[in-house]
Order: sequence, then structure tokens, then C-alpha cells
Amino acid sequence: LMMLTKKLIEIRSILLSIDHNETLKLPSIVVVGSQSSGKSSVLEAIVGHEFLPKGSNMVTRRPIELTLIHTPGEDEEYGEFPQLGLGKMHDFKKVQKTLVDMNMAVPDTECVSEQPIELRIYSPNVPDLTLIDLPGYIQISNKNQPESLKTKIEELCEKYIRGPNIILAVCAANVDLANSPALRASRKCDPLGLRTIGVITKMDLVPAEVGASVLRNSDYPLHLGYIGVVCRSPENVTGNMTSALIRNEEAFFQSHHLVYNQRDIQVGTATLRHKLMNVLEQSMGRSLYSIVDAVQQELEEARYQFKVQYNDRRVTAESYVAESIDSLKHNFKDFATRFGKPQVRHEVRTMLEQRVLDICAEQYWSDPKIAELPKASIDDIYWLYKIDLASAALTKSGIGRSTTQLVVDVLMSNMERLANADPFSFHPDTRKKVMSFTSEILRSKFLTTSDQVENTIKPYKYEVEVTDMEWAEGVKRSVGLLEKELDMCDQMASSLKNAVGKKKLKGAIKYLLDQEREDGRRQERLRQIAEEGGSATEEQLFSLEDEDAIKHTFYNPKILEKAREALFLRDRAMILKYRIAALKSRQCKSAENKQYCPEAFLNVIAEKLTYTAVMFIQVELLNEFFFQFPREVDNRLVYQMNRRQILQFARENPPIQKHLDLQERKNKLEDVMDKLSYLVKRQADRQARAKMG
Ligand code: GDP
Repeated sequence: LMMLTKKLIEIRSILLSIDHNETLKLPSIVVVGSQSSGKSSVLEAIVGHEFLPKGSNMVTRRPIELTLIHTPGEDEEYGEFPQLGLGKMHDFKKVQKTLVDMNMAVPDTECVSEQPIELRIYSPNVPDLTLIDLPGYIQISNKNQPESLKTKIEELCEKYIRGPNIILAVCAANVDLANSPALRASRKCDPLGLRTIGVITKMDLVPAEVGASVLRNSDYPLHLGYIGVVCRSPENVTGNMTSALIRNEEAFFQSHHLVYNQRDIQVGTATLRHKLMNVLEQSMGRSLYSIVDAVQQELEEARYQFKVQYNDRRVTAESYVAESIDSLKHNFKDFATRFGKPQVRHEVRTMLEQRVLDICAEQYWSDPKIAELPKASIDDIYWLYKIDLASAALTKSGIGRSTTQLVVDVLMSNMERLANADPFSFHPDTRKKVMSFTSEILRSKFLTTSDQVENTIKPYKYEVEVTDMEWAEGVKRSVGLLEKELDMCDQMASSLKNAVGKKKLKGAIKYLLDQEREDGRRQERLRQIAEEGGSATEEQLFSLEDEDAIKHTFYNPKILEKAREALFLRDRAMILKYRIAALKSRQCKSAENKQYCPEAFLNVIAEKLTYTAVMFIQVELLNEFFFQFPREVDNRLVYQMNRRQILQFARENPPIQKHLDLQERKNKLEDVMDKLSYLVKRQADRQARAKMG
């Protein structure tokens, strides 16, 4: 019989899950009343279980959207919190505990929250109803309950008691109805009393005649009337609380049946239940056509948007995940084909050539005797020793570690780039995972690779054989490098000039050179002083320092610093030109003379080191990494994801989330529309039958 309510409650739940918007609202019963008016007791009597939070400390702080689902023929009774996903709760003590926790999660400073708690109760003993329990009105405000709280609760209730909702105004029989905030609120938004049911609790606390006159209330007549109940269960009940309660209530009204058993008076929880079912069914029936219109409109809009924005293209979280992973793998493959031996060789060679330049600069170019090198005799021990030292500095500098590290760094930065590419910019966690197993793979290969490289270059630490061709190549490369270095010197010098100003820089340089000469003279003077008298007198030292002070005022230290740099660059350029000429000279035509041409010799070694290192890095590190990475993508990303994670991943991407949301909204509206069409048809059939009958 109550088919419509049941179906519409189902529809209501679906609509609530798409949005809480005003147009798609189906009626519900809203329970309002003062604190301690017996609101919870009434609700529990309807449900037949004790499950609401009790206590004096403002226990209901959030609206509870209570959906009762009648399950005829079933044995089990249980509650469910769809927002929490905790599954079926057969123990109503646990339901109560959960409600207490969810209410207490609202901080004391806020006191009430508008966020409703959804609770569904499935039972063969409940009617199909939707009820919304609201925080009780408070009368007096005290220190713990400020005036603002009173207003806050009133505003919250006002929001819920709007049409098409049915208002269940709960008042205690022993409190003057004129003072009932529930009735006052109802009168405001339902002045004709068309959708308000009055529930008078605690009938046992007033004499029967008084009770009856309260129920006949003529000061504020309600179209749906007042119903009197007694909802206090007797003390010391064991077993079924509800049946004890109902027996208690029945016994009470029975004992006053002369007063209460009259046509214009309604009493008892059972009556209340029936009333609620009937009223809700009628209200649902009235709402049917308007909700059909509203859903139809929303559906058309959703369909239109889906067509316009996505050209009706459907997307699933799964397909999105698959596409994203494919694009990662594709980008990786692309990178792997472009990053082969030649690229690794280039990286390693560049690093080692730089090291050669550093060694030359340190050991040769800053050697004051460098000008004498070309004229030194072939067995000059100084230069022979030096070339050995320089090549050892290169070969014994931890080539295995540094070349492997270099390639690892290049790989990591490229992988970083891949992991940051679309769509992974939306998925920081996945990006982190990718980087973490990338570095894990590389780390696991690091030691073997660097040991291998170090082992295979070992011979070069003791002896390097050089063919004529290798030598010629080495000379050519080192000339090229030195020319590049020279270019850089020139560039830096000219940018210094631009920064400081040509004239100013020149002046500062001249000053520095004078100073140097002066310093030389001063050293000389100090030496003389030392020779003459053993040590400088105070006065002599003072005069020297004073001179310093005067001169320094002309140039600020920053400019002098630049001038020093310029001087250094000038000297370096000079040496480089000189060394380029040396490398191009007859002396450097043969490897026999390697001690005269350290730049070329070190370059030949660097090339040999590069060749060997790259060979092993390629085999031990690169190939292994390229092979393993795609497999780890499958193992660590794809196979690990459950349905929930797949959805979460898809929703991290805002455009995809929007797409999924609209699609889901459209699907749900279509589902609702199907269900509604069936109901409309059934309703029409029934009306037709009624007419004929
Ligand atoms: P709420 O704050 O409005 O939810 O009120 P409760 O349902 O918690 O009830 C407040 C107090 O009134 C409790 O101590 C109940 O036992 C008591 N109470 C509720 N209904 C009745 C009733 O019908 N008769 C009597 N005598 N007491 C009741």
C-alpha cells in the first residue's frame, strides 16, 4: 500500500547523493521540539530501538537524516552510516555510540553544525519513513550555552521546516503549549497548520482531563491534529524495550479510556506511526509530479552539458588510469631510445674533459715555471714527475663512482621530467612513487656498476699506451678545448669591462699593479729594516699603514675585486694562447714528448677512460634500468591499485573529475527518471481504475 513512499524514499536517497540542491527535494518528516520535551523518546518508540545519544550536554549537534527502510520477511535489523562505510551495524548500542562520536566531533566552540549525519535503519518492524532529527530548542541561555547558540539552533530548524517537509512538533503535556518553541516555529512557516503534526509527550504527567483538552487544542488548531503519547519505558525492563513501552502506554490510555477513547482524540505511538506513514505517503504523492518536472529539467540540462562539453564521450576511472600509465610508458620508451651510448659518452666525456682542464690549471698553468717547459731537457725530472702526478690525479680520482653518479644524475633528472609531465602533475603521490622506485632501481645497480668501471680502468693507473692516431686526436681535442677556454676568458673579461666600465677598470688594474710594485718595494724596505735593526719601530710601521689607508680610499673593495679578476683572466688568456701554440708546435707531434704536452696526454687518457666507463655503464646500469622500469610501473602502480584507489587517482585530475561527476549525475538522473516514470504510470493506472470502479 505504501509503495509510493518506499520508492520515493529510494529516489530521495539517490537525489541526496547527487546534490543537496533545493529543487530536487522530496518531503521528509522533520522533528523539532525543546530540549527534554521527549523528542528522542518519540523517535525511538517509532524505530523500536534505543539508539539516540542521551544526556544533558547538548548531545544532538548535527541534523540526523534518518531513513527507515521496511524489510518485510527479513529477520535482521541493522543500522548503516552511508557516509562512513562501516557496513551493517546490528548492535544498536554501537549505532548510538557512533552517533555520539559524530556529534561530539563538532567542536564546543561551534556547538551546532549544519552538516547532516545520514543514518539508515533496515528492519521488518519499521515503516518506510524519512525523519530528520534536529538539535532541541534551548530555552534559557547560560554560561555554557550563549545567546548566539539559541539563534543558531533556531536558524537551523527554520531551514529544515520549510515545505514540502512535514513538521513533527514535539511538546510535553506538562508544559504550556503557548510556550512551545516548536509550535511557534511551525506557526511561522506553516500558518494554516497544514503540514504540522503536534505530538504531546508525557501524557502520564497530567490529569486525564487536562491531557484531553491539550489534545483538542483550539488555540492553535492543526489540520493533522495532535497525538498524545507516553514514551517512557517502565523501570527495570528486561528484554524487548519497545513492547514493554507500548504495553505501558496502552495500559495507561486504557486506564483512562473514558477520557481518551473519543472520536476527536488521537493517542498512542501506533496511531502516530500510522499517521506519519499516511501523511508522508500523501505528501509524496503530491510531490510526485513536481519532482518529475524538476528531475526532467535537471536531466535535460545534464544531457545537454554532457553533449556540449564532452560530445557524449564516456570516461571511466579505469580507462583514465590505463591512459595515464600508457603515456608514462610511452614517454619512457621515447626517452630510452633517445638516451643511448652516444648520449652517455657525451656526458661522461664532458665531465672528464672538464676535470682535465682543472688539473692542467692547477698543476701547470699556475706553475711559475710554465714558460720554461718547452725548453726543458727531455729527462728533466721535474716535468717527468709532474706528468705522472697529473695523470694519477685523473685516473685515481674515483672514476668509477663519479662517472656512474653522473649517469645516475642525468637519468634521475630525465625521469623527474617524465614524472612531472601531464597528467602526472595532478598526481603528486603517484609521481613520488615513480621517483622512489626509479631511485631504488638505480641504487640497486650503483655499486656493481661503479666497481666494474673502477676495476676495468685500473690498468690506466699504471700505464697508458698511446697510438699515433690517438695522440693526434688528443692534440686536436685539447687545442679545441683550450680555444674554448680562451673564448670563455675573453667573454668574461669583456663582461667585467661592461659591468665596471672600461676606464674605471683600467684605472683599478693600474692601481693594483702599482700596489704590487709598491708591495715589492715595501717588502724590500722591511727586509732592510730587519737587517739593520732587527725589527721595525712603531713609527715606521705606522707610516706604512697610513699610506695604505690613503690609497684604498680611491677604489672601493668591490671594484678592486673585479680588477683582480680581470688581471687573473688576462694572465690566464696569455697562458692559454701560449699553450695552444705549444700544442700546435713540432714538439707535440709525437707521444714520446708527452711531458711537454700534458693537456694532450691527459686528454688521451680521458678518452680511454670515457670509452671503458661508458661500455660498462651501458651494460650494468642503463640496459638494466630500461628493462626494469616498465616492469616496476606495472608491479608497483597498476597491479597495486584497488577500485577505490583507481577512483581516487582519476578524481585527482580536476577535468576528469568534472567529467566523471557530470556523467554520474546524468546516469543517476536517468535512473531516477526511469523509476519516476514507472511510479507516474502506476499512479495514473490506479486513478483510472478508481474512476471505473
Ligand atoms: P529530548 O531531549 O527531547 O530528546 O527528550 P528525551 O526523549 O531525552 O526525554 C527527556 C526526559 O523525559 C527523559 O528523562 C525521558 O525519560 C522523559 N520522558 C520522555 N517521554 C516521557 C513520557 O512520555 N512520560 C514521562 N513521564 N517521561 C518521559
